[in-house]
Amino acid sequence: MKSTVVGSFPASESSPSNFKEKLLNSFGSFDPFKQAIKDSVIAQLDAGVDIISDGQVRGDMVSIFTKYIPGMKIEEGNTFVVSKIRKPTREISIDDLKYAKKVMGDYFNGNIPEESGVKGIITGPNTIIHSSRIQGFYKNKEDAIIDLAHCLKHEVDAIAKKVEPVYIQVDEPFLSTGMVEMKTAREAIDIIKEGLEVPLGMHVCGILDSAFKDLAKFNVDILDMEFAGNNVNLGVLEKNASLLSDKKVGFGCVDSSVNEVDDKSDVDELVKKAIDIVGKENLLLDPDCGLRRAPKDVAFEKLKLMNEIKDKYS
Ligand SMILES: [Zn+2]
Repeated sequence: MKSTVVGSFPASESSPSNFKEKLLNSFGSFDPFKQAIKDSVIAQLDAGVDIISDGQVRGDMVSIFTKYIPGMKIEEGNTFVVSKIRKPTREISIDDLKYAKKVMGDYFNGNIPEESGVKGIITGPNTIIHSSRIQGFYKNKEDAIIDLAHCLKHEVDAIAKKVEPVYIQVDEPFLSTGMVEMKTAREAIDIIKEGLEVPLGMHVCGILDSAFKDLAKFNVDILDMEFAGNNVNLGVLEKNASLLSDKKVGFGCVDSSVNEVDDKSDVDELVKKAIDIVGKENLLLDPDCGLRRAPKDVAFEKLKLMNEIKDKYS
């Protein structure tokens, strides 16, 4: 049984503090987020997380992608589709993931443990389009979703090839809302999955009683859901576990909506039930969702607690 994170981690921008950084800054090449990536990687590793992220420290999950996507624009914090969506103007997350992997390699003196490493994360096309407004070109959201899936596929393939992650995760929080047309959603994920040589995971937020049977049909290797912050999803999993026989379960076991450390016996109980339902060989423990909003020390303690429980049952 391995552990991972959903993705984001509390972060702060830093300002140049020594001569070299000040010099870089004067040329406009100081990166105010580099330290935050390093801090988030080390915090995840110190807490015992096996498959880490780069912390997604650069901004919200939609704009970090859409600012490099032709056909989309951001205005006063809102995202719009203004013309046909095309291939990203540059690779979006490769440099940060490579850096996270380097920090991880240094942490382990070059010997990253087996089945551990970094994972690439992209925000899914369904979620990006459903949180944007269509102003031009497309008559419906579905066509925009399919074009965006082709666009994001460039990023996914680049991550697989250049970073060699343990797996790639698509974040699709909107799939539980009932607003998304599931046939198109599945087609979009098929586009992302096609020919991909690393496993693909999909993270979905919220209560899943009405969406679960549809989600089980998605062509992904790992389905990641929230089980700590609600008392519905575990029952849904228990009743329908056989539908996931071809998938691993990303099992959210600490509550990311509460900014205090979870009760240890609650987490233990939850993980024990998950092992009974799907078997520990099919489980990947993680927090319910991203930890961006938590204070750094609370985020760290949540991850540490999760890994203590993982070690207990591994
Ligand atoms: Zn989530």
